[in-house]
Amino acid sequence: MKVIDHINGSKRTQLSIEVLPPLKGQTIDSIYATLDSLVEFQPAFVDVTYHREEYVFREVSNGLLEKMVVRKRPGTVGICAAIKYKYGIDPVPHLICGGFSKEETENALIDLNFLGIDNVLVLRGDPIKSEGRFKPESDGHAHAVNLLDQVIDMNQGKYLDPDLKNQNPTNFCAGVAGYPEKHFESPSMKTDLKYLKMKVDHGAEYIVTQLFYDNQVYFDFVKSCRQAGIMVPIIPGLKPISTKAQLNIVPHFFHVNLPDELVEQVERAKNDSEVREIGIDWCKQQCRELIKAEVPVLHFYTMGRAKSTYEIAKAVF
Ligand code: FAD
Repeated sequence: MKVIDHINGSKRTQLSIEVLPPLKGQTIDSIYATLDSLVEFQPAFVDVTYHREEYVFREVSNGLLEKMVVRKRPGTVGICAAIKYKYGIDPVPHLICGGFSKEETENALIDLNFLGIDNVLVLRGDPIKSEGRFKPESDGHAHAVNLLDQVIDMNQGKYLDPDLKNQNPTNFCAGVAGYPEKHFESPSMKTDLKYLKMKVDHGAEYIVTQLFYDNQVYFDFVKSCRQAGIMVPIIPGLKPISTKAQLNIVPHFFHVNLPDELVEQVERAKNDSEVREIGIDWCKQQCRELIKAEVPVLHFYTMGRAKSTYEIAKAVF
């Protein structure tokens, strides 16, 4: 079932989660453990992230360094199929531009279609860690909107090979990312919203936001989107703080602000188990206010820490 049908078919706020594929060499058990613990809240859907390749340098003879390409978290498509058929929950694989040619994207979409997966979250992806800025593949896509066009083309039966005959259209529901505090590369919120609107005009049916810790930021973002003519559902993304180190890590990686009150509470905490409680309480308050505002879904970035999400879901659903 499509994410948009889950949203339109329910009057109450639902839960969804995002999981990361395990590191290469690990088993799928960590994903099952996360889902086993959260399945009682009937997640509407489960997003599975996609992680592009990274460059690592390994020392070889004579102190020389050899550049190697590694993909540390493969398995997105397989995990989606496992979730769909083990739990009957709709998976949402993330599709990214980075590291993918158009041909590889087409083949991935064909695999997903054959597996009966109805949804994709269409993203540009982050730059390779060792590169400062995002570089598209020469035969790939530069922006999420271009990748989205390929998905929508396939939904209309248009594949890359113009000579193909009797092509079957796919039927994916595509979501995209939005940034309540602006995407870090964008020169202004107005410019960022212009491109967000472009994604919706090109066929995105809903938006999932970057995580945020101040609900007012989300409410203002939704208002700005509506004023800009972006009318699709906007799903808030949430991640409870769980360690003191995250006071620096979260703003650095996600380009978001932490409210003074939350920072002060975390700074006063004696240890990380106190921080975890503070993070859970903060997130519970966010959730209660968001549910009151009738948001369609609360989307939790679990990042391998399902316990906090469980405690929050138990309290608010
Ligand atoms: P885009 O929509 O392409 O936007 C990127 C920047 O370019 C923005 O500044 C935008 O304003 C601008 N822009 C957009 N379109 C155009 C255009 N046509 N011309 C000029 N400028 C334009 N990363 C991963 O690697 N894997 C994941 O699984 C993943 N999942 C995510 C899930 C969510 C919900 C979110 C919010 C982010 C996720 N990311 C993931 C991170 C994301 O890939 C990065 O934030 C990335 O830097 C931007 O992706 P985007 O899809 O928003 O890109």
